[in-house]
Amino acid sequence: MFDITQRDIKYLVGVGPARADILARDLNIKTFHDLLYYFPYKYIDRSKLYTINELSGEMAYVQFKGEILGYEVLGEGRNRRLVAHVSDHTGIVDLVWFQGIKYVQKGLKLHTPYLIFGKPSIFNGRVNVSHPDMDKLEGLTLSNLGLQAFYNTSEKMKRSGLNSTVMGKLVRNLFDQLKEPLGETLPDFLRGKYNLISLTDALRMIHFPKNNEEIRQAQYRLKFEELFYIQLNIIRYASDRHRKTQGFVFPHVGELFNTFYKDYLPFPLTGAQKRVIKEIRADMGSGKQMNRLLQGDVGSGKTLVALMTALLAVDNGYQACIMAPTEILAEQHLNTIKSQLRGLDVRVELLTGSVRNKKRTEIIEGLKSGDVKILIGTHAVLEDTVQFQNLGFVIIDEQHRFGVAQRARLWVKNVTPPHVLVMTATPIPRTLAMTLYGDLDVSVIDELPPGRKPVQTLHFYESRRKSLYDGIRQQINQGRQVYVVYPLIKENEKLDLQALEKGFEQIRAQFPEFQVCMVHGKMKSADKDAEMKAFLAKESQIMVATTVIEVGVNVPNASVMVIQNAERFGLSQLHQLRGRVGRGADQSYCILVTGNKLSEVTKKRIQIMTETNDGFEIAEADLKLRGPGDLEGTQQSGMAFDLHIANIVKDSQLLEYVRGIAQQIIDEDPDLVNPENAVFNRQLAKMRKEQAIWSEIS
Ligand code: ADP
Ligand code: MG
Repeated sequence: MFDITQRDIKYLVGVGPARADILARDLNIKTFHDLLYYFPYKYIDRSKLYTINELSGEMAYVQFKGEILGYEVLGEGRNRRLVAHVSDHTGIVDLVWFQGIKYVQKGLKLHTPYLIFGKPSIFNGRVNVSHPDMDKLEGLTLSNLGLQAFYNTSEKMKRSGLNSTVMGKLVRNLFDQLKEPLGETLPDFLRGKYNLISLTDALRMIHFPKNNEEIRQAQYRLKFEELFYIQLNIIRYASDRHRKTQGFVFPHVGELFNTFYKDYLPFPLTGAQKRVIKEIRADMGSGKQMNRLLQGDVGSGKTLVALMTALLAVDNGYQACIMAPTEILAEQHLNTIKSQLRGLDVRVELLTGSVRNKKRTEIIEGLKSGDVKILIGTHAVLEDTVQFQNLGFVIIDEQHRFGVAQRARLWVKNVTPPHVLVMTATPIPRTLAMTLYGDLDVSVIDELPPGRKPVQTLHFYESRRKSLYDGIRQQINQGRQVYVVYPLIKENEKLDLQALEKGFEQIRAQFPEFQVCMVHGKMKSADKDAEMKAFLAKESQIMVATTVIEVGVNVPNASVMVIQNAERFGLSQLHQLRGRVGRGADQSYCILVTGNKLSEVTKKRIQIMTETNDGFEIAEADLKLRGPGDLEGTQQSGMAFDLHIANIVKDSQLLEYVRGIAQQIIDEDPDLVNPENAVFNRQLAKMRKEQAIWSEIS
């Protein structure tokens, strides 16, 4: 059957090839269906009419009648504007256009009554309305205006006459051309049970609501559907995987684990560490393949959990592999783990890009023969030449640096996929974790080891540089070390590197009595490592760096983290950086240095940082300030959906609610063979075609 909603948008009355190009480029609207699902972002009540002498700069959107007395083009360059003077016999107001001046000017008719709609503001003491909506008054009656939908449009669209009003007209034309009702996407039993209006009604009401109640009903139905299918997709996939994939069974807690626990543990486990180890043990004994995300704030002791659960695998005759995102981190893990296992009979090896020749051959042979029990490495372990005898458990540290494709390659090394534990200090808010990694189980270490002093975070404006330097000197004189971090982003790399080097010179000049070292991503990794090692060995007191130090490095003696241009960092990045200090027994400080002029959002970010050390609170705040699409890591992780109407933050309750409903449906009918569930299969197939990458996410 031909589906009219799939028709090319250029065939819609009022569109044509030129507008179709713009719609495709700026809004990704290519078909009738896309336009139907391009929802208004707000609605304005157009039943009330103001007189011009009632208008003030504080009012929201208003509408009024008036005739144009005259117009003129004023200003130069960016200030060039068209100004029309409008009167309704109670007063005069200016209408102003900065864009599309020629186009607007051509359409303006003097001494003709218009209905004008827009947001008044004050400029030079006069009320004006910029870029108003205007309709000739003839033929319009107020009562049939009612609620008007507003659509986001780009500047380019406005220039070619595709403003919000015209978008509304196009949707009108679309409904005229469509045969209703449209194919329903939710089964009757579900709609009845959860009070959802039909798809056709919902789409009509979302574009042309008669009242607020219609908007509410339409939004509820559409959000419900959107979130429901995302969850159904994930739950269906997870249930398939659980039913069809076998996992290794690690039935016993053996000698190694027990000996380590009794005699080698350097400190008592925190309650959270114990709980998480139990959760992992239960997974490993279940016969299912484990896929678990371990979230724990920086410094919460994830490495120990990794080591102890790796011992479980070894006790059961399997090999384990711990993967870190950088060589420095991998080496640090090796050192920690080797020293903690000292005296125990477990062969642990390190494999990174710099391990070559004879050593490399030895390790590769040891892996093949099964002699190497725990391998620690970087992505170098993914190379085809690296073969294990029986890899049973993979731990991926600091997941956000690790691509989806790389993770997928690990499974290929086995017929039976190993158990997988992904560890991250970037807390993913619960609702986002549910949508992103809905089929991963999540464990949380929500407790720091005892005795840690929370890092104190302070905000310094540039102008207080001197007292900042005094503070640094004081700390170093007490034997501490200091990080000074500069932003570095690809788009601005050259300037950023210059700023970094200038900062480095300044600090050297400021602290001639101390050693200052520098680390950035453009350096050769051997040089980088040498500088890091010198800092670790306390040969230098100040490290000037970019965010390369963000992940995982442990220098307990460093007690001050100075972040230059803190306004340029995202919240979670600031939090990660802060996590580099506060690892020893001393009071530590994080100093956020910013310029004097800050936007509201930046002020809010800085304030959150100074008020809380809780990574989850920060992640939630980040999500609210930036929106989920922006969240660090989610873009690369292949967020497999694109939300039209629901909002992960605002609709988190609805998300949890529909997740329960989807779970129940899959529990009762895992293969969706029941005829009344047929529509689910159709919709999921459609979704999966659009999102072929989804199955790789875990
Ligand atoms: P992260 O979770 O950031 O990877 P680490 O595993 O590096 O944290 O641990 C941070 C520090 O805390 C390490 O020095 C580690 O030895 C220490 N640590 C871990 N667990 C405990 C514990 N139960 N009690 C005391 N210190 C601990
Ligand atoms: Mg770590």
